[in-house]
Amino acid sequence: MTHGVRISIDLGGTKIEAAVLDADGLFIDRRRVANPGDYDAMLDTVVQLVEASEAETGHRFDRVGVGIPGSPSPATGLVRNANSIWLNGRSLQGDLERHLNRPVRLANDANCMALSEATDGAGAGARSVFGVILGTGCGGGLVLDGRLIEGCNGVAGEWGHIPLPNPTPDEDTLCWCGRRNCLETWISGSGLARDHAAVTGQTLTAHDIIAAARSGDPAAEATLARHRDRLGRGLAMVVNLIDPEVIVIAGGLSNAPEIVDGAFDALRPHVFSDVVTTRVVRADHGDSSGVRGAAWLWPA
Ligand SMILES: [Zn+2]
Repeated sequence: MTHGVRISIDLGGTKIEAAVLDADGLFIDRRRVANPGDYDAMLDTVVQLVEASEAETGHRFDRVGVGIPGSPSPATGLVRNANSIWLNGRSLQGDLERHLNRPVRLANDANCMALSEATDGAGAGARSVFGVILGTGCGGGLVLDGRLIEGCNGVAGEWGHIPLPNPTPDEDTLCWCGRRNCLETWISGSGLARDHAAVTGQTLTAHDIIAAARSGDPAAEATLARHRDRLGRGLAMVVNLIDPEVIVIAGGLSNAPEIVDGAFDALRPHVFSDVVTTRVVRADHGDSSGVRGAAWLWPA
């Protein structure tokens, strides 16, 4: 292994990405392929990506960091909570280590994002960073003093499956996880679209709703206002519990300035403090945060 050069894998629901980063966090090599959606084919694909990156860069890597949907159970080591459900119940770390013939560290993709942004992204220099992903789903991760906090149950930062705080009587949903009113059902991209459809009868994507609001559509503007208020309630709970210096927002919705820029004003009234200096910012590394954070799972 060359000092400071790392390889990582981001195992996404639709694609698998491999990256080689140098000690300064610059990409030396990146490659991305479609996720075959089949467990054994996925393992072979990861091996091919690592071998191709090694051939391209001339480095040999003794260990690999991998970001995954869901997380390994601390009790069994088996993957759970993945929305790519074919991963659940699998001994992914052991299987990857056998296929790659070297040690592997796994972490939840939102945790990787938070670690990436805390290391050299929008939360760099802060002692405490809470990262949230507002994408198809809603994840979160906590980094304190540069260290990822995974928790004794491996669910630290699993913000998306906490109930929406202070709900109104008409705010009542059932989440895919079986719980009621999970934040994910309200503030993810799919939650935004679901809410818009429930109120207006119009089936639009989150992207189309944001575009409609920009062109002055009152119903779309109202949907974004409801979303802003719910995001504020959810983030205020994070501030009251953890009080991070920086909240980094990533995922597809973070590309819309309306979502990120309104978040601070929305959370402010719900925080139990006379002063709120929390910075709420968009992720610096965008879609790359997952694969970058997975690289930081191993020390140099
Ligand atoms: Zn849930």
